[in-house]
This record gives sequence, structure tokens and C-alpha cells, in this order.
Amino acid sequence: MQHVVWDWNGTLLNDLEQVVQSVNVALASFNAGPITADDYRAGYTRPVVLFYEHLLSRPVSHEEWEQLDIMFHDAYREALAEAQLAPDALAAMEAVDDAGWTQSLLSMFPHDELLETLAGRGIGDMLIAIDGLRAGRGERKYGSLVRHLEHVAQKIGGPLDPTTVVMIGDALDDADAAEGLGIKCVLYASGSHPRAKLEATGHPVSDSLIEALAVAGVTA
Ligand SMILES: [Mg+2]
Repeated sequence: MQHVVWDWNGTLLNDLEQVVQSVNVALASFNAGPITADDYRAGYTRPVVLFYEHLLSRPVSHEEWEQLDIMFHDAYREALAEAQLAPDALAAMEAVDDAGWTQSLLSMFPHDELLETLAGRGIGDMLIAIDGLRAGRGERKYGSLVRHLEHVAQKIGGPLDPTTVVMIGDALDDADAAEGLGIKCVLYASGSHPRAKLEATGHPVSDSLIEALAVAGVTA
């Protein structure tokens, strides 16, 4: 392995509390909720509209889904300033650098807002490519990962061998995207998804980002 693709929400950014709070704002406008972090863990899925159908126990129309998603994002944007990096995020990213590997960030959070959220956290300079979502809402990660790896290849000035890449994320969607491209994935049990569900994917599961790197074979 020589390149790490980091996930943002729930991986480098410890934002579970803010996410649950924001889902509850969206649900409240539909006279539903609130849910707890455990409810979130147990029910979260992509496409995200299925998650809301589960929480509301009924089908959700396209218009309703857009409304829910806008409300979620408005609430989340406000709560975001309180979210901290994962306890060992900085140390893990420095370790990747020290090992002579490259690293990048792929998030399903809107691209411009992702850049704003990253500003001032002291990690932007370590990332050779940063990609958020530029179109669509709550889509699966696979298509974004395809484009992201093309972006990374451009930055390193050559084709990228999938066997040299490891994805570190906290969600089943991260694992699915990695599998689709034949790249390795380590899942970080940050608390946003049940550990048993992560383990069931067959990918290695870690309790910290530093541990995830050790599993991925990052050594200085
Ligand atoms: Mg995530």
C-alpha cells in the first residue's frame, strides 16, 4: 500500500453527536423522532432516503426526501463548528506522511462546505486531493471513489495501481465502494455504525485510526 483514502464524517471527523442532533431536527418537522445514537447506529443506510423511510415507517416521496435532506444539512451546518477531529486523526495523518505514503480525502458531504469545514483544522496540507460531493444527494460512494482515484492519479502524475491503495472509513458504503474497485478497506469502529455490521463485511475493523494504519501496513 502507498496511498490512503480517508473518509471524513465519522472517520477523521468525530461528528456523531451533531449528526444525530441534525437527523432529529429533520424528523421533528415530520412530527417524528427524536432518535438516539443507538437508533442511528442500528438504522443508518444508503441511499439515505431508505434510512428516513425506516425512521418514519412509511415510504418517502422524492419531494419529502429533498425536504428532509435540506433540513438535515441546515441543522448539521450549524452544529458542525462543535465537531472535533477524531482523537488520533492528526497523529494518524502525520504517521502516513512519515511513512512516505500519500493521502487524500473523499467525502459525501457537499464539496464547498467540506473545504470550509476543513479550513483551520491543520490537515489540508497533508492531503494531495480533497473531494466532496459535487452533485446528487445521499448517493452511494462507489461512483465518487472512481472519480476520486482518477484525481489522485492526476496528482501523483501517473496511473494508480488499486493494490497500492487503502480506504479507511467507518461505513458499509466505504467498504462497498472499495470492494467495487478492488482496493483494500479498513473499517474504523468510531461508533457511528454497529461493530458487528462492520465485522460482517469481512474487512478488518479497528478501534482507532492509528490501529487502522497498522492493519493497512503503514510503517514509518
Ligand atoms: Mg463516514
